[in-house]
Formats: sequence, C-alpha cells, structure tokens
Amino acid sequence: MSIDFIEALSTDNLTAISAAPKTDVHCHSFLSTRREKAENWLGYPLIKPPFKMKGLEGMHAYIGEVLAPHLDHREGFEFIAASAINDAIQDGVVILEMSFDIRLLKFYLGGGTELRSFIEALVEQYREKIDLRPELGFARECANDPKWMKSAYEAIELDIFQSIDLYSHQEACAPEAVQSLYTNARAVGMKLKAHVGEFGGAEEVRQTVEILDLDEVQHGIAAAESVEIMQWLSENQIQLNVCPTSNVMLGGIPDLASHPIRILFDHGVPVTINTDDLMIFGQSVSEEYRNLYQAGVFSADELDNIRLASLATVGARFPRPYIKEK
Ligand SMILES: [Zn+2]
Repeated sequence: MSIDFIEALSTDNLTAISAAPKTDVHCHSFLSTRREKAENWLGYPLIKPPFKMKGLEGMHAYIGEVLAPHLDHREGFEFIAASAINDAIQDGVVILEMSFDIRLLKFYLGGGTELRSFIEALVEQYREKIDLRPELGFARECANDPKWMKSAYEAIELDIFQSIDLYSHQEACAPEAVQSLYTNARAVGMKLKAHVGEFGGAEEVRQTVEILDLDEVQHGIAAAESVEIMQWLSENQIQLNVCPTSNVMLGGIPDLASHPIRILFDHGVPVTINTDDLMIFGQSVSEEYRNLYQAGVFSADELDNIRLASLATVGARFPRPYIKEK
C-alpha cells in the first residue's frame, strides 16, 4: 500500500497523485495529447467537444469537423505523438501502450519502415522516462479494404508493435474477419486486445475474447450486465482497460458515480484506468483516479490497489522491450 498515493487522493493533491507511477494501456496516439497543447502548436484555439457526444458517431463527427482539418497530416500526427508522451510522463505514467493506427501509413511514402523509424526514435528518445510500447491500431472498417489488411499483416512483421488493438464501429466487421490477422500477431508474440462492450452486450465481450483469443479488452464495461461473464473474465484473468470519462462523454453510461467499473472490480475482474483520447476527453490517468475517488466509486485504498495491480500485471505479462539491449 502506498500511503503517499492514498493521502494524495484523500487530500486532493493532484501533484502528488501525478507523482505516483501508473500505466496507460488504452490510448490512441493520434488524439493523445491535451487539446491545449495542440492549440499552442497551431497558434489558435479549437472548438471544445460537447460534454455529451452521441456515441462513436458523435465523436467521429467532432474529429472530422473540428480536429482533422487542422491536424490530419504528418506534422500534426508527429507533434501529437511526441506531445502525448510528454503528457504521459508528466502524469506519472511509466508504461504506455499507445496505439498507432494502420492508416497513419498514408503519411509515409516510405511505408511501414518509415513509420517504424519514427516510432523507434520516440521509444529511444523517451526510454529513460517511460516504457513506450507501440501498439498496432486497426479500425474495423479497414477489414473491408484489402489494402489496409495487407498493410496490417506487413506491420505485424515490422518487429516494432508489441500489441494489437481493434476498434471503431462494431457493425463494420465481425471478429472473424480479423481472426487470421490476430493469429499472426500472436505468432510473433504480440499481446491481443480489442474494443468491445463499450456500449452494451456482455455476451459480445465473451465471444470476441474467445474468437480472437484476447488477452485484454478495451472498455468491456458491458460485461457488468452478466455475473456469469464477469466470473468467466475473472477466472481467465482477462483484463479490462477502462476509460471512465470516455464512457460518460460518449454516453455509454449516464455519469461517473454509476460507472460499472465498481461492479466489475467487485466480481474480481482485473481492471485498469486509462485515458483513451486525452485531446477529446481531457482527463489524464491521474485525473481519472481522482474523479473516481471524488465520485465515490472507489476508496483511496482500492484505487491504490488498482494502480499497483496494473503496474504489476502490465509490467510482468509482456516484458518484451522491443529494442534490443545494446
Ligand atoms: Zn479506445
């Protein structure tokens, strides 16, 4: 038990909360820095997201209308990725599993090897301060495009990505559509994750875990609807990487106080606390801990247990620093 972290929560000392080591294992590089940082870089303000957006549709509309016109280019992406790592370091994040969307390749005429060089340089530049573990991000709609599928298979062979994540509209593809991609990712030792159960469907969580042999689920909060599935997740130690503010702002749940992370925790499901998209949701990992404490979802002791457990499991399960020791 870390008295400092517990005290920091109970005295609302955000600086001390930030000083405690943490993980962030659910974060998308393209939207991972604070919006204010992007505004400073651009030299002008961006329209704030509404506090309640209508699900992924609402979020994608905001990205398309407000963020993309200013930031959807190579310089924008590279600024955001580096700035996001700095934000994470300032927040006390020591292990950062950050996803890089396969479609970022549109910025790199030199293809995967050129994107890999950029990511490798980031890992190297910050390695004294943070364990950056690049993750391959794959949007479900890309499963319908042979070009992106081919790129994803090639990206797995680049020996840079330590994990893979699947996200975006669930109706765009069934998990079976990426099953062989996931088999290949497993074969090279990657951790397997997917977004599922963000908006409903406990059974869908179990099915996706089984079909793709997932190690971890991004969100997965719908599992709280089923005691049986929570027990199954607990027995199999399938970790749910939860992003509380994202769930509230996208309307997955009505408010923080009723967040099902409490139910999941009480049923022994391993949970971690993460940011998702800092540029949109605006809450660092430390702030997410503080918010859960202030909303009465967890005691300071429980939050400290979640923090320490995530450091232990994230640190222990895949100790594969991809850069070989020199
Ligand atoms: Zn996400």
